[in-house]
Amino acid sequence: MEYISTRGNNGKVSAAQAIKQGLADDGGLFMPESIPQLTVFSMEKLIGMTYPQRAASIMSMYLTDYTYEELLADCEKAYAPDRFIGGACPISELGKDLRILELWHGPTCAFKDMALQIMPRLLSRALDKTGEERTAYILVATSGDTGKAALDGYADVNKTRITVFYPLDGVSRIQKLQMATQSGENVDVCAIHGNFDDAQTGVKKIFGDKEAQKELNDKGFFFSSANSINWGRLVPQVVYYVSAYCELVKKGDIKLGEKVNVCVPTGNFGNIFAAYLAKQMGLPLAKLVCASNVNNILTDFLRTGTYDRNRAFHTTMSPSMDILISSNLERLLYLLGGSEKTAAYMKQLNETGCYTIDEELKKRIDDSFVGYYCDEKGTSETIRSSFETYHYLHDTHTAVAVKAAEDYIRETGDHRRMIVASTASPYKFASSVYTALTDKTLDDEFECLEQVSAISGTEIPRPLAELSQKAVRFNQAVDAASMKNYVLGGIGR
Ligand SMILES: *Cc1c(COP(=O)(O)O)cnc(C)c1O
Repeated sequence: MEYISTRGNNGKVSAAQAIKQGLADDGGLFMPESIPQLTVFSMEKLIGMTYPQRAASIMSMYLTDYTYEELLADCEKAYAPDRFIGGACPISELGKDLRILELWHGPTCAFKDMALQIMPRLLSRALDKTGEERTAYILVATSGDTGKAALDGYADVNKTRITVFYPLDGVSRIQKLQMATQSGENVDVCAIHGNFDDAQTGVKKIFGDKEAQKELNDKGFFFSSANSINWGRLVPQVVYYVSAYCELVKKGDIKLGEKVNVCVPTGNFGNIFAAYLAKQMGLPLAKLVCASNVNNILTDFLRTGTYDRNRAFHTTMSPSMDILISSNLERLLYLLGGSEKTAAYMKQLNETGCYTIDEELKKRIDDSFVGYYCDEKGTSETIRSSFETYHYLHDTHTAVAVKAAEDYIRETGDHRRMIVASTASPYKFASSVYTALTDKTLDDEFECLEQVSAISGTEIPRPLAELSQKAVRFNQAVDAASMKNYVLGGIGR
């Protein structure tokens, strides 16, 4: 299987090359030339497998230059029971219709672990497969969740090194501690005086800096990113939709072949696009409900066909969905509209911040997708009402999706099983969850963890509970202007 660019001008590369390179040379995203197909026979086999076996089987359909044995060895390490406590992605029932797919049992308590625990291993092998002798130097700017998940995934992975920059006053105390206490010989964390945009701009500047590239190259490194547009992050996400379907069949909740719906709290469109790929592979999925918070640019796009980023940006209690450019949407445009249209729309987006798709493409998207959004009040109310009705706690992002799923079912009367992707532990956003439950606020985040635990009668996840006792390893802060010097000066660190 070879990979081509969504904008049509990169030629063909292997999966290993696509993972190593990240972005195609023409600015597009890598996509497989064709979508591999699941059969009834392969579904029956998958149902009998463990999660790592399912992951290796599905990923080997896409990553044909990796052997099944290599992928299985990596998946068994990445999704081991001591990393994903309580299993890789258990499913909880919420009433008759909703099935909550809990993707947050990994080491950082957010769904990004599902991809970032395995992707560094795929990259490490990609370096060998492409004859790369240098070490990949991963640079990350984070507003919280991605940084920790990337640190944990890359820690002590062969031929990689990682530095994460975060805004000194822009992350929560728990997020800061999660990063500052990270173990591993190849990891580094640095705060910057500035906001997330300053960190992001700084990282982009370093990526594009020829002098920095040369100096790094001389010392045996090259820059790489852990961004969600990398194919290596997307393909592991296809797995859990197929696996969830297998689990529902295994439990007798649905019959093999029966169609189910999916609802995903969406930011960069990576997670929901993985569900669409699963559907294209032949998994019996009907509608994909794209859930947004008040940054509802995708809801508008799915309803009108116009993507317009010229609008106000809102800071919400579901910060990982506060996004105006959903990069992976480009992959959907490409699959359904082809590379020529995609390149033209992306050019318009770049120049004017806006594009409108044609009727034919809109109709094809409408066949599978529908958009709903939920405001801050609706998010809080959903957390509270789910807890009161089902004694089940959602984090803020998942609450947005649950509200969207409920609205969709009420408006359409479509009562097929609905798999809702649950993307973070409620403890990861404990202060918002505490306020939703009690109408009160608490300054101390560790106190919020205790309170949420007392109210819900559930345990604080071990990685968060242990944080207050862990030693801080990284406490440096620099000006945004000094980020490059920090990176280059630190190569020997
Ligand atoms: C990253 C993230 C999302 C958004 O996922 P996309 O793949 O970017 O659409 C949703 N919820 C949480 C908790 C996240 O960390």
